[in-house]
Amino acid sequence: MRTLDDLDVDGRRVLVRVDFNVPLKDGAVADDTRIRAALPTLNELRERGAALILVSHLGRPKDREPELSMRPVAERLGDLLGAPVRLAPGVVGDEVTQLAHALHGGELLLLENVRYEPGETKNDPTLAHGLAALADVYVNDAFGAAHRAHASTEGVAHLLSQSAAGRLLEREVTTLNGILEDPAKPLVAVVGGAKVTDKVAVIDRFLEVADAVLIGGAMCFPFFKAQGHAVGGSLCEEEGIEPARAALAKAAKGGARLELPSDLVLGDRFGADAERRELDGVDVPDGWMGLDVGSRTAERYAAEIARAGTVFWNGPMGAFELAPFAAGTRAVAEAVAAAPGTTVVGGGDSAAALQQFGLAEQVTHLSTGGGASLELLEGKRLPGVEALS
Ligand code: ADP
Ligand code: MG
Repeated sequence: MRTLDDLDVDGRRVLVRVDFNVPLKDGAVADDTRIRAALPTLNELRERGAALILVSHLGRPKDREPELSMRPVAERLGDLLGAPVRLAPGVVGDEVTQLAHALHGGELLLLENVRYEPGETKNDPTLAHGLAALADVYVNDAFGAAHRAHASTEGVAHLLSQSAAGRLLEREVTTLNGILEDPAKPLVAVVGGAKVTDKVAVIDRFLEVADAVLIGGAMCFPFFKAQGHAVGGSLCEEEGIEPARAALAKAAKGGARLELPSDLVLGDRFGADAERRELDGVDVPDGWMGLDVGSRTAERYAAEIARAGTVFWNGPMGAFELAPFAAGTRAVAEAVAAAPGTTVVGGGDSAAALQQFGLAEQVTHLSTGGGASLELLEGKRLPGVEALS
């Protein structure tokens, strides 16, 4: 994978694919983490004399919904850089090309939401050529979109004479590959959250390379169901049961230890004012749902994390958004933050949990790409990364 070190950008126009898919509230940027994450690449390119044309998607527009315009992002980015960021009137076309060609070294133009163009998600060559016409050099720093072969992440990369990964994408790929290739041992994977079917492949991979895989969140119920336990009204993805059974069988044959919760916190429904009850054991009675791991499980997992040379954490241990069911996730988050080993966290909600507990700065690497980080760890090739080598 080529990096910024391989590029000659002085006096050139650089098209930078960034991940500015940020949450908005009342027409303003509600969380600018993703914008900040791109600053090292943007600052370096500007210092090296490049003019920057930035492109990102924002949400999933079906048409050109003005609510999904990049305007609030342009304003926030301008504040963060202390430099004006001009918003283009569209994504491609004559007017945008003229604006791009008029840029001087250090200046910035932000294109409109690239998904205003239906060709983006189809990797349409016409759109890719339109984007390529804006610049001389292509840089991809949008790790969160690197698992998609879209016009701005894949197609355009082949059309400019120079292309490379930005510093964020470089760090993401190097750190995540490092977990698989040469991790400090023991390697402990903590996998939770709700979407079992999205994460079975990564559990499978960690059963081969890790020393222990710790399961929490709603993720544990397909495992419990496969073992014949009652899950009551717990969130239990039906399609997750067979893969869970297969993972249990694989772990029984050797490889990583597969650890499941041994106690739970139950609620009578999914809500902050639900009736709450602790359960020593894992058979969930009817009328109740498992909404967090219990304190004994949390202590056991925290001890594994503290002993690890490398920790990968994806997915909260429970419904952490609801205060009565946040303790398990908080205990794991605190253990990860305090761990002496290398700590890597992926997943949008896991990142949100770390932020909620004020611990986001205390991990080695907080991945900006949920789906992309899982696919990379599964061993899949990411089209946006492959296009840069
Ligand atoms: P990430 O975004 O970190 O990959 P997921 O999206 O897979 O994580 O899962 C996060 C969601 O899982 C949270 O909204 C949380 O409320 C939910 N969740 C976790 N454990 C449970 C549970 N036991 N019951 C219901 N929902 C849960
Ligand atoms: Mg999520």
